[in-house]
Amino acid sequence: MPNDADNNSEVGNLCGICRAAPATCHLCEIRSGEKTVLDLCDKCMTERGNLLNWPVPDLRGARCFYCGAAATGAGMNQAWERDLRGQQIHYTCSRCLKNQHDLTLDAFSLITDGGSAEEQMRQIATIIREVDEQVRAMARRNDN
Ligand SMILES: [Zn+2]
Ligand SMILES: [Zn+2]
Repeated sequence: MPNDADNNSEVGNLCGICRAAPATCHLCEIRSGEKTVLDLCDKCMTERGNLLNWPVPDLRGARCFYCGAAATGAGMNQAWERDLRGQQIHYTCSRCLKNQHDLTLDAFSLITDGGSAEEQMRQIATIIREVDEQVRAMARRNDN
C-alpha cells in the first residue's frame, strides 16, 4: 500500500541545476562509456531543451511508457533509444522511473570497458531493450 514515506523516497531528488525545485525530468547521457544522469525540474528542463532545440516535454495528458499511468516525469531519448522506443520523449511515472533507473545503473556496471565504441553502443542498446522489458513486466505484476 503506498504511503507518504514511500512517495517521498521516490521523488526526493532536487533539480541538479537550480537545487531549488524537485526534479521531474531526467537526462541520461552516455559518451564514450561515461554515464551521467542529470535530474532537472520543469523550468530547467525547458530552458535546457530550448538551448539544445529539443521538444519540450509536456506532462499534461502524457502516459507512462511502461504502464500507461499518468506520467510524472520525462526524459529525452537518445538516438539509440529513439530507434528502440519509437518516440523522442520518454515519459514515465515515478514507480517505473525508479525501476528503470535502478535496473539501468545495475546493468551499466556490467558493461565491459575497453571495447570499441561500436561494441559499447551494441551493449548499451541491448541493456536498454532488456531493461525496458523488465520494467514493463514489473509494472504488470504490480497491477495484478
Ligand atoms: Zn531547476
Ligand atoms: Zn509506469
